[in-house]
Amino acid sequence: MNRWNIPSNLEEEIILRDQECVYCGCKFSDNSKKTTATWEHITNDMRIITRENIARCCSSCNASKGSKLLSDWLDSKYCKTKGINSLSVAHVIQEALSKPPALDRIIEIKSDSKKVCNYISEYKNKYSEEITDELKSSIDHLVSLIKLGVN
Ligand SMILES: [Zn+2]
Repeated sequence: MNRWNIPSNLEEEIILRDQECVYCGCKFSDNSKKTTATWEHITNDMRIITRENIARCCSSCNASKGSKLLSDWLDSKYCKTKGINSLSVAHVIQEALSKPPALDRIIEIKSDSKKVCNYISEYKNKYSEEITDELKSSIDHLVSLIKLGVN
């Protein structure tokens, strides 16, 4: 694991894949601060640690992108000046652009919500002798609302 919680095998894989900045295509070099390789979360969510969301980009692009949405950032002056666009970026970025930006998060939220539903249903069953009917029906109502929201 490195300090971004990226497992070593994924880190090695991405270092091999992204040998130049995934955005501007510059060669990484420690000679200049701007071209130093940095870790990039394409969708700006530190919890999405997958080969589709982790990439290497130069510190100049990383600083410019910050927490912006990828599609918004590509419209920025920085990208326009440097000729960075949806066709010029690396394959991994083109892939990220081809699907809705929030898709990963939605899948994750659905899976979390199902876990929460299971957890509180288990709780209700486990303590069914001790909790009031009112609380039981509140729990059922809550579970049905969550399920309604994620289906
Ligand atoms: Zn760059």
